[in-house]
Amino acid sequence: MSDVRVRFAPSPTGRLHIGNARNALVNYIFSRQRNGDFILRIDDTDLQRSRGIYIQNIMDDLEWLGITFTEGPYFQSERIKIYRDYACELVEKGDAYFCFCSEEDIRKEKQEAKKRSIPYRYSGKCRHLSKKEIQENLNKKLPYVIRFKTRGQRIEFNDGVFGKMNFNDLDFGDFVILRSNGFPTYNFSSAIDDALFDITHVIRGEDHLSNTPKQILILNSIDRHIPKFFHLPIVLDKERKKLSKREEHLSINHLKEDGILPQALCNFMVLLGWHCKSEIVTTDELIEKYDIYRVGRSGAVCDFSKLRWLNKKFMRMLDDGSFIDSFSRYLNRDLIEEESRLALCLRSETNDLKQLNELMEVILKGNIFPAKKTEENKDIVRKFIDFLPHFKGGEKELKQGINGFLESDSFSKRAFYSLLRYILIGSEEGVSILKLILCPGKEEIIKRLNMWMKL
Ligand code: GLU
Repeated sequence: MSDVRVRFAPSPTGRLHIGNARNALVNYIFSRQRNGDFILRIDDTDLQRSRGIYIQNIMDDLEWLGITFTEGPYFQSERIKIYRDYACELVEKGDAYFCFCSEEDIRKEKQEAKKRSIPYRYSGKCRHLSKKEIQENLNKKLPYVIRFKTRGQRIEFNDGVFGKMNFNDLDFGDFVILRSNGFPTYNFSSAIDDALFDITHVIRGEDHLSNTPKQILILNSIDRHIPKFFHLPIVLDKERKKLSKREEHLSINHLKEDGILPQALCNFMVLLGWHCKSEIVTTDELIEKYDIYRVGRSGAVCDFSKLRWLNKKFMRMLDDGSFIDSFSRYLNRDLIEEESRLALCLRSETNDLKQLNELMEVILKGNIFPAKKTEENKDIVRKFIDFLPHFKGGEKELKQGINGFLESDSFSKRAFYSLLRYILIGSEEGVSILKLILCPGKEEIIKRLNMWMKL
């Protein structure tokens, strides 16, 4: 077992989204930097909201991002007995107690607190039940929860990002650790598992900062080591509002289908809350440079135009092998040689894999588009068809060649490029005309231009 053990613990209640995936990535980087263990734990104790399909989705998305684990997945739903035994142990120790209050009793207490405009805390009504009363209620099979006893303690910890934190347990009152259906609450199963899996560092989102004192109380009660906590700043949209987990366009799957490269997405996510001198960093460089102690506290704004910009850079930057690998994963099939060649040739002309695929489909279908057939247009295309067979070389030579043959004509270079582009891909702008001619090859272009002439 390594000295450093971290975990990622998603709840399978929806797709993996940017905020959560950022937490996974930071755990991954942190463990790789320290040769540590990285554990995948599935927090699936919420029976109503957990779905098997999301477990698979989450694991697929993590794999696609290149985030790998050294242990797991462990499923909390398979460990219910362990949590129940611990809850009973806490009751025996006097740190927790059976609470038989009905939902109706709790609802009334909450209403009363609302009326008096004070935050709700459980009244502690069942705290002082005698052993006899408890046994009678259990014999009557009255439903119960188990609550942790708070005693007016101060809980302090030094968060790796937020610094010194200070709570009083009376602020949240006696909280439930085991529900009436026999399942643990998140705080309980999380603290128990962090202890049993010897987690040394808990790295997660800022939204869990207020759960930490409860987890510390539980860990103290079972006499276990308190891990070091790091709460990564909340992710905000451009209006500085908290990102909603439910929004489909924030899911990793959506971005994947949109043609974003995993390398660009990892780069983007790690910059949410952390600043790096060079904005473009590969995951390997991140492992070298990332410093969790330099993560900022203020909300991290998620600017998708930045993601698009980074993606464009990665489209050009990746080595050929990784690029073809990513493209083939995007298409969910192997590429034939002709497609790989074309993809490598055209990648710099597009911003993402989706655009690249659309452009390639147009080119590979061999269609032509009905640009206006004025006499002038026909004339210049005919001249170009005559020119192409004699041309040799690459982009530089082609550019010179086109300049040369346009010199003797009244056609502007711009108008000529637009015309060719329209015939070949149905759009007057966007892609470099030189690439559009050279990638499919001049014979293919001559064939298509002849088809247009005959339209
Ligand atoms: N299941 C929790 C979540 O998805 C885990 C939080 C934690 O890392 O403790 O938010």
